[in-house]
Amino acid sequence: MPELPEVETVRRGLRAAIVGRRVAAVTVRERRLRRPLARSFAPTLVGRRIDDVRRRAKYLLLDLDDGRVWLVHLGMSGTLAVVAAGAPIRPHTHVIVTLDDGRTLRFHDPRRFGLMRVGSLAALDELGRLGVEPLERAFTAAFLHGVARRQRRSVKSLLMDQRIVAGLGNIYVNEILFAAGVRPGRRTSRLSRPEAARIVAATAEVLGEAIAARGSSIADYRDERGEPGAFQDRFRVYEREGRACGRCGAVIRRRVIVGRSSFYCPRCQR
Ligand SMILES: [Zn+2]
Repeated sequence: MPELPEVETVRRGLRAAIVGRRVAAVTVRERRLRRPLARSFAPTLVGRRIDDVRRRAKYLLLDLDDGRVWLVHLGMSGTLAVVAAGAPIRPHTHVIVTLDDGRTLRFHDPRRFGLMRVGSLAALDELGRLGVEPLERAFTAAFLHGVARRQRRSVKSLLMDQRIVAGLGNIYVNEILFAAGVRPGRRTSRLSRPEAARIVAATAEVLGEAIAARGSSIADYRDERGEPGAFQDRFRVYEREGRACGRCGAVIRRRVIVGRSSFYCPRCQR
């Protein structure tokens, strides 16, 4: 499932590749995504120029020249890639947007949990419920420690709560908590201020490394050129149950927390 580093990788690639281009045509091959694609989607997009590509949490925001936003969520298995016009159409390609230079933007999503909408920023209700961006200045030790003290849950479930911190998912929260030396099942009420500071620093470090490696490719994720990322080779705990911790040699453990696999080193994480 694409998380923040994968979406950020796609954003950077798309920004370099398509800003300034106009939409010449839109072909919808399948409307049944997470929400059915609106009938107005194609007519609203045709003729518009793409002025910028931004990101909020795991959403891509393509700014259009009429002030509206083309919102894209990649869901579980979605990719949005720039493809030459004559390239064969793969199965599960649901939307093809032809640009004025002949290239196409193709939305491919076998599991169809992805989402696309066009609207004014204020009307896109998906964005209204999101918490702080983990790579922005508002995500501080004071913020995290303050929120944690008011909650009764595990640190991992707090970090995965999109209403509090937006864009983190299971893979990166596992890696961040390893880098910070905090166990995923730790109660938020017992998180110290220095530990909150370590989590904030580890978040910037892990997400930064993952973006530099162009994300992690597990199953379907591909970047805007259709290429996989490389961060999956650098996981230190995720999917490493039973293997030795690279830092101390102890055996990595797995535990299910709020329905998701959590991996940790019993010696490095307290
Ligand atoms: Zn260890």
